[in-house]
Amino acid sequence: MVMTIPNLLLRVTTAVEARLGHWVWAAHSALIGLGILISWLLYRADRAKLKGLLDENQHNICPRCRYPLSSLPLTIDRCPECGTAHNPAQIAALWQTWEKSEHEPPTPRQPRF
Ligand SMILES: [Zn+2]
Repeated sequence: MVMTIPNLLLRVTTAVEARLGHWVWAAHSALIGLGILISWLLYRADRAKLKGLLDENQHNICPRCRYPLSSLPLTIDRCPECGTAHNPAQIAALWQTWEKSEHEPPTPRQPRF
């Protein structure tokens, strides 16, 4: 047998499986499942945190950087953090649409307006 990388991987895999049986595959699958579960829990926690922030600020949060805009004077029409122009009615409509969906919130890489 020519010793190529795929052949070597096959020999190592076969040797590991012979020693450990199918437990290695069960452990591997469990780790993948645990990773998916942790990712989902982190996603839900971030979403709940953002919903709390939206409730505290009457949906007036910068869609680009999440800076709370509710305490700013009405004469200021740009986010002081990132400079994005904002209109409170548009922002509220955007966040209310997001709350009804299961999509990702707007991020700095995806400004909505
Ligand atoms: Zn901003």
